[in-house]
Amino acid sequence: MSNQETLEFQAEARQLLQLMVHSIYSNKDIFLRELISNASDALDKLRLESMRNKDLDVDTSDLHIAIDVDKEARTLTVRDNGIGMSRDDVVDLIGTIAKSGTAELLRKLKESKETSQDSIGQDFIGQFGVGFYSTFMVATKVELVTRRAGETEGTRWESSGEGTYVIETVEDAAQGTAVTVHLKAEDQEDHLYDYTADWKIREIVKRYSDFIAFPIRLSGESDALNSMKALWARPRSEVEQSEYNEFYKHISHDWTDPLETIHMKGEGVFEYEALLFIPSRAPFDLHMRDGKRGVQLYVKRVFIMDDCEALMPSYLRFVKGVVDAHDLSLNISREILQHDRQIQVVRRRLVKKVLSTIKDLQANDAEKYATIWKEFGRAIKEGFLEDPENQDALLGVLSVASTHDAAEPTTLARYVERMKDGQKDIYYVTGESRTMIENSPHLEAFRAKGYEVLILTDPVDEVWVERVTEFDGKPLQSIAKGQVDLGSSEEETASAREEFADFLPWMTATLTDEVKEVRLSSRLTTSPACIVGDEHDMTPTLEKMYRAMGQ
Ligand code: ADP
Ligand code: MG
Repeated sequence: MSNQETLEFQAEARQLLQLMVHSIYSNKDIFLRELISNASDALDKLRLESMRNKDLDVDTSDLHIAIDVDKEARTLTVRDNGIGMSRDDVVDLIGTIAKSGTAELLRKLKESKETSQDSIGQDFIGQFGVGFYSTFMVATKVELVTRRAGETEGTRWESSGEGTYVIETVEDAAQGTAVTVHLKAEDQEDHLYDYTADWKIREIVKRYSDFIAFPIRLSGESDALNSMKALWARPRSEVEQSEYNEFYKHISHDWTDPLETIHMKGEGVFEYEALLFIPSRAPFDLHMRDGKRGVQLYVKRVFIMDDCEALMPSYLRFVKGVVDAHDLSLNISREILQHDRQIQVVRRRLVKKVLSTIKDLQANDAEKYATIWKEFGRAIKEGFLEDPENQDALLGVLSVASTHDAAEPTTLARYVERMKDGQKDIYYVTGESRTMIENSPHLEAFRAKGYEVLILTDPVDEVWVERVTEFDGKPLQSIAKGQVDLGSSEEETASAREEFADFLPWMTATLTDEVKEVRLSSRLTTSPACIVGDEHDMTPTLEKMYRAMGQ
């Protein structure tokens, strides 16, 4: 009863495979990194499962990864004795791309293909973490034999990456997973791509997978190829940036180097090490609901969980990394973690460190800072709502568009430096787009007076400006709300008041269904009237309505 079936890859998976078969990625070596990375994940999962589930009868005494080559048959096999997969797992995990947003990414990929011929969408590919499929860059055929821990039947899967795969149930599979890559003949002729050569395998493992926590053994040798040293436990001065980069790629499943690396250590009552990364671009799901957080928790080198929300607030969900806490129980649950005092202390320190790192970049590396703000600024601004404790730090890293410069955003500190004599408030205006705002009558008097106005067009801006009342002792003031005092001269106001004494009550009465009050204002220069909101009763939706009426 082998139940052999030939199945089709899901449409998106097929498209990705096509890209792999036609080798869009220039560095083929990384297929081995991806296989080792998957094996390592599977070993982590088994160790964890065996700790959680005492009924699971598995041997975890020699968790390892073995690489075997058969030069005659031109095959390379990566084997692990990790968690393994059931037949359904294989169909779900290998036959489809479960990640959301895939369709959209493929659309982008197509677009980029149309514009640039050479580097077909390499940039986008990085966001997928194509992982297992990268084997098809070097393979004519890939075979996978696996058995899930605790199950008796195994599964064999095979494909040449051309749209279909064959799957069958097998009796004699070892627990864990073995992936055998049938290497393309043409690659092997070039000794640089001879993946059956010992030196080549050693080199790849050393370069990409040295930190993997389980021994990686070559062809039955007993010595491991990798040092297995946890990177975060090594002194910063002894770690190369390239090692940090590879580690980042392993944990983030990103193919691009991180923008910034933060390596810290906490000593004292509660010991921990943290290795955090700010990616160089936002993942496609950054603004989707249930977007993942990026920090993994380890306890004394043992992987405990991915996506540890207790360690990083949601607005910093783009930060990837690991925290190794020494004094926690290996059995700690998410619920307990949420309320653990020490974890809360660690989280607070991590947040401070991330924000101060961004602040440093703002001062010392304008380009990196600009990238961070462009990619993650919208998420960071959610911090005003989620993390009022760090409001000042958040204001410090904030960048906003302003009337001062059409192209360059400004920081609040620089705005304050440019404030005119006698200007007490920091002026801002919210709206849907810069163009709409610039055509609005609200800006006229400010322009005439030479006052700079911050232009806030992100939906989240509407919300945070409600919460933040001042920066550096200067109140934040919407130019579309309340009475803005632009300092008209006394005489001017008095004579205008007299002139319009009858007109204003009449106008107020006439428009009684539409407005609360009609009053004189010093905020206009050429437009005869504009609609403003009351100081306190404004919602963004209302504001939008008013704006629509006012123009
Ligand atoms: P990713 O690792 O980013 O999830 P991959 O394409 O590398 O994507 O792998 C897809 C999925 O297949 C993994 O998430 C995992 O569930 C499963 N998988 C791959 N290799 C193994 C393995 N050696 N053991 C167990 N599961 C595996
Ligand atoms: Mg993977």
